[in-house]
Amino acid sequence: VSGVAAASAAPARGPAYLNPHLPVRLRVDDLMSRMSLDDKLGQMTQAERSAITDPADIATYRLGSLLSGGGSTPTPNTPTAWADMYDGFQQAALQSPLHIPVIYGIDAVHGHNNVVGATIFPHNIGLGATRDPALAQRIGRAVAEEVSGTGIDWDFAPCLCVARNDRWGRTYESFGETPEIASSMTTLITGLQGDSLSDSGSVLATAKHYVGDGGTTGGVNEGNTELTEDQLRAIHLPPFRAAVDRGVGSVMISFSSWNGVKMHTNHYLITDVLKKELGFSGFVVTDWQGIDRIDGQPGFTTDEVDAAINAGIDMVMVPYDFKKFIDTLRSEVQAGRIPLSRIDDANRRILTKKFELGLFEHPLTDRRYTGTIGDAQHRALARQAVRESQVLLKNDGALPLSRHDKIFVAGKNADDIGNQTGGWTITWQGSSGPITPGTTILQGIQQKAGTDNVTYSKDGTGINGDYDTAVAVVGETPYAEGQGDRPNGMGLDADDLATLSRLKASGVPVVVVLVSGRPLDITQQLPDWNALLESWLPGTEGAGVADVLFGDYNPTGKLPDTWPRSASQEPINVGDGQQGLFPFGFGLRYHR
Ligand code: BGC
Repeated sequence: VSGVAAASAAPARGPAYLNPHLPVRLRVDDLMSRMSLDDKLGQMTQAERSAITDPADIATYRLGSLLSGGGSTPTPNTPTAWADMYDGFQQAALQSPLHIPVIYGIDAVHGHNNVVGATIFPHNIGLGATRDPALAQRIGRAVAEEVSGTGIDWDFAPCLCVARNDRWGRTYESFGETPEIASSMTTLITGLQGDSLSDSGSVLATAKHYVGDGGTTGGVNEGNTELTEDQLRAIHLPPFRAAVDRGVGSVMISFSSWNGVKMHTNHYLITDVLKKELGFSGFVVTDWQGIDRIDGQPGFTTDEVDAAINAGIDMVMVPYDFKKFIDTLRSEVQAGRIPLSRIDDANRRILTKKFELGLFEHPLTDRRYTGTIGDAQHRALARQAVRESQVLLKNDGALPLSRHDKIFVAGKNADDIGNQTGGWTITWQGSSGPITPGTTILQGIQQKAGTDNVTYSKDGTGINGDYDTAVAVVGETPYAEGQGDRPNGMGLDADDLATLSRLKASGVPVVVVLVSGRPLDITQQLPDWNALLESWLPGTEGAGVADVLFGDYNPTGKLPDTWPRSASQEPINVGDGQQGLFPFGFGLRYHR
């Protein structure tokens, strides 16, 4: 009612869709009545920023969306350069006849992780270990502010996969192996989207990857999920139901198949279940070149485009062949193989979110948020998340450390920001080394005990019996997606085993800190260790690990995944009757 009253009071100039006082539904109707077929096809098309060689193409082809894939960054990689880049693309989009802004998406999956200097939070598996949905919501808010500070509107997060096999390279993107953990952590969506999408510090969230990505046979990335419909609904669907209930604005389809059928073509699961049964009113986007991968051959065919759009996909992440995609889509619509009603439905869904985000009123970056990128408040929140995510798995009394002890620190993950942030950080695969500002675990230990009391040797050489404790920070190095699949075992790397044997030979008590995206095969080594702390992939705030090591925070983290005795036990999940090394939910505290 107030919308209508405001509308009649509004000046009678300009098209109705540009009137912010009108209800979104009427604005969408008005805009769509003015759109040509090509305007509508463009809205459904998402191109990679690096494919935009001429910014004028954004208006010419009426592109609806752009993205930065992992590592696709402006030069220099600074918050201001990002905001300038975004504003440049947006200004180019606004040159189209109807001045429709683009929606720009990015994978901010643990902080605004493509941007040097952003706060990097623990990867999802660590958040799952906190069992703290309120914390996840605060993190979502912080991420939304940092993303907003670069203008970007849309976050391809959270990943709601229920990772059932730790061999899978995306296990760390999962909150854990049960639908309950992933469902509870959808508070992250509420943080990202805020009380209202139109708040300038809010971004559109994405529930991904729909559905069953974490259930593939063998834990193979983009593989086949072989489950009955009842099993799929019981294990993998609930987090998406929770996300829809929280008003998630977009859903990304999984590369995987369900019983041999590619999810990108599954009309039943996308249209009947997600849109109709769950009542999802946002828009559905493909994964990266998701249509190309339907038939397993490079590039996309008319059949693949028909199958995906008719299954209920609203936007296609092309990301390079956007001109060819638009031509294909046009000819399929003109030939009647894709009904116009489907194109209209997709446009209605996409445009509704653009209006709700306030993009028509405020298309450019709100620079008030640029200063929040990597600020002290967000880093303090990340440190809190790190503390809460630590899982103490063994302790014979070697922990907590004393500030007065002489401590020997070793291991390839002790003094390496890149290793402790993992994949999806600055680059898609992540990389070792000082890739972005932060505090390493070694630095966190030094802050507590003083540099004089702490000796560091990456490979453990130089240790002798004079030290009170040796802390070995070992585990995995960065990877993302299929490159992290471990079909051949989940044991420690040879360099870690060498470091650990040097420490063992000294006779000094050994505390192991594992920096890893999943449980590793450690059954043989565990008896040699006096204490074991699982740190997951903690992000930039390594001081949070030291808070737990020194007992300034009594650990509360609980395993979000059953820890196998060996990789051959995978898949191993709570309730399946198998006995792992540590059960789901396990986590010790200090008794004082
Ligand atoms: C991943 C998605 C991601 C997309 C865009 C894909 O390879 O599977 O999770 O959102 O790339 O970067």
